[in-house]
Amino acid sequence: MDNVEKVLPLIPLRGITIFPHMVLHFDVGREKSILALEEAMLREQKIFLVAQKQAKIEEPNEDDIFKIGTICNIKQILKLPGDTVRILVEGESRGRLAEYIKKEPFFEAKIEVLKDELIVENKEDEALIRAIRKSFDEYVKLSGNVPVETIITLDELEDPGRMADIVSSYLMLKQEAKQELLEAYTISERLKMLFDILNNEVDILKLERKLGLRVKTKLDKVQKEYYLREQLKAIQEELGEDDEDKKEIAKYKSKINKAKLPKPVKEKALYELDRLKNSGTYSSEGGVIRTYLDWILDLPWNNTTKDNLDIKDARKVLEEEHYGLEDVKDRIIEYLAVKQMSNSLRGPILCLVGPPGVGKTSIAKSIAHALNRNFVRMSLGGVRDEAEIRGHRKTYVGAIPGRVIYGMKQAKSKNPLFLLDEIDKMSSDFRGNPADALLEVLDTEQNSTFRDHYLELDFDLSNVLFITTANSLDTIPRPLLDRMEVIEVSGYTSEEKFHICKKHLIPKRLKEHEVDESKIKFSDSSIYHIIDRYTRESGVRTLERKCSTVIRKSMAEMIEKNKDNIMITINKVKTYLGPEIYSYDRAEEEDKIGVVMGMAWTGYGGDTLPIEVSVMKGTGKLELTGQLGDVMKESARAGYSYVRANGHKYGIEEEFYKSKDIHIHVPEGAVPKDGPSAGVTMITAMVSALGGKKVRHNVAMTGEITLTGRVLAIGGLKEKSLAAYRAGIDTVIVPKDNEKDILKVPKTIKSKLKYILADNIDIVLDNALVKDE
Ligand code: ADP
Repeated sequence: MDNVEKVLPLIPLRGITIFPHMVLHFDVGREKSILALEEAMLREQKIFLVAQKQAKIEEPNEDDIFKIGTICNIKQILKLPGDTVRILVEGESRGRLAEYIKKEPFFEAKIEVLKDELIVENKEDEALIRAIRKSFDEYVKLSGNVPVETIITLDELEDPGRMADIVSSYLMLKQEAKQELLEAYTISERLKMLFDILNNEVDILKLERKLGLRVKTKLDKVQKEYYLREQLKAIQEELGEDDEDKKEIAKYKSKINKAKLPKPVKEKALYELDRLKNSGTYSSEGGVIRTYLDWILDLPWNNTTKDNLDIKDARKVLEEEHYGLEDVKDRIIEYLAVKQMSNSLRGPILCLVGPPGVGKTSIAKSIAHALNRNFVRMSLGGVRDEAEIRGHRKTYVGAIPGRVIYGMKQAKSKNPLFLLDEIDKMSSDFRGNPADALLEVLDTEQNSTFRDHYLELDFDLSNVLFITTANSLDTIPRPLLDRMEVIEVSGYTSEEKFHICKKHLIPKRLKEHEVDESKIKFSDSSIYHIIDRYTRESGVRTLERKCSTVIRKSMAEMIEKNKDNIMITINKVKTYLGPEIYSYDRAEEEDKIGVVMGMAWTGYGGDTLPIEVSVMKGTGKLELTGQLGDVMKESARAGYSYVRANGHKYGIEEEFYKSKDIHIHVPEGAVPKDGPSAGVTMITAMVSALGGKKVRHNVAMTGEITLTGRVLAIGGLKEKSLAAYRAGIDTVIVPKDNEKDILKVPKTIKSKLKYILADNIDIVLDNALVKDE
């Protein structure tokens, strides 16, 4: 046997013995034991349980405690009223107490783990095993307090040591006998001892029967319940809990009657109240029922708020609270118009898609405000378990309703605006697919009877106005996407950000800090400076944070220097916010060889993507470095093949690939980018580098490429245009197939960018490369 040792907290047991493999719960009350338990929970959740020699000793010392006990896993802990804790443990293996490590404030000891020896086939043992099974069978029938199924389980057990332990744990024995069995370390010894004890017990039971001592009449169920209830009442009276219980029950009863609950809900509530009466509010079951009743009573079964259907009013609220976002506002107004005419707000769910910080959440809040509805928000990011949406069944320990019902409780009315944030960040695993549950929530045909596993009652969600948000549409499960009407909220231009900042963000922040608007004023140029030099985002979240910092620092300065007001200028911004963070990925100042500005589109909006190519002597290798995804690598290779096949057209030496290596580098950005749309950029950079031709510094491009040089359509033209404009580009080359998307680009941007439509790479190169003088 190899001696494995463990250091574990120890609890001395009074009058119980735990065998390995046995699952048992018992109450722990002594302070020292509770401390040991807490320590065990902080560690591996293992504890050494060993019997006291005499149960009546309150504070045992080491001589009062046996040496052999059981190493147990703690499965569950339940705090009971008073300082008692109920724990559920499962025996793991025998252990011998080798030495005490400390005795205060709790026992801790070094324990030698006694693993069962390996089984050796042995005729004598085999005979004993059979005999024990037979006797135990008889014991179960005679005693009537062991579930019959145990016999079946035992029959399937191969391991004799384990079988002996399980049988031992079912026997009603004196503590000494149990301790002896536990101390029987070798399996043969254990089997022999158990056989003797078991036969002895069976003989006694037979005798009792004969004498008529054990009246085995089964009380019928009603009788039994009555008996138990009476007993419970007596105990409660004794403990003085009865009055409290009655008060509590009366309180629930009046709450249930006052709440306007639908009939089935009321019936269920009264049924549960009845159960509460019987179980007593102090029992652990009582606790479960109370929580359930609280949930029922807290839900807005019948409370509704009255919608404000005045379209002018709604438009005013939306305009006041948000700058731009015209598409969203128009759609909401249409929505209201439909509602007014048909008196139903059914229809597809709105899904606001766009990069973070563009105001998806806050416009949803405004819609709630405009409609006069309560607002709740639930984030679906990282939700992977169906039960998070639909709840756990009540039989589950610590069950709670799902997030939908939780949201409805917070909403306090049954017709709130319910925002489901980050619907694209949900995933699924073996615990079921949350998207399926969500489908039911969003489906107007089904959601009037939404059933949460915990509540087990139908809840009507058909009056809820659901709005969802996402950063990108790619990862939204198809069936969900089909139910939603997508409204894209793309990023803002610097001008738009300026207006948002001036009209909304700064006043909002000042109000939050309770500062009068006349005290801290921002100059227009300071706002632009923050936008251009301290933020780099499609939305305005960082901008809002930076403004907040400026405001806080100005307040500090006003107090320290006893100033009455402060004007924020560019210089002030620099002192408050420190060195400028972005010099801006501006377009190159001059035309260069092998450097081309591409445009990319990510979940965070558009971005520029400069690509660099250099050519050196070599053996025809193509090297790719920097931040390239798989798709981008493919398009680099396709571009390379195109240049090899067609290089002569652009004055590139025909067999360049025999003597030259090409190195393509894509600089790391904050956001990973991938996709085929860098194809044209790569070819242009390669042709420029190989042919020694300069690329215009004021041009940016995007487009997928085929091996024959055709330019294919790309996505996110609007966002890409914003990014190009931000970088100081004035000409963009885009695929001809994207012509229709140019319409969607904001006018301010469109008027400042020249769009060149290309259906093949020649047009791209023609416009991007500087012509020879
Ligand atoms: P999202 O949900 O898209 O990530 P948020 O709704 O959290 O973005 O918006 C971030 C902050 O920017 C909020 O304080 C919001 O009020 C503000 N904001 C965004 N867009 C606008 C806008 N068009 N007008 C006014 N404030 C805006």
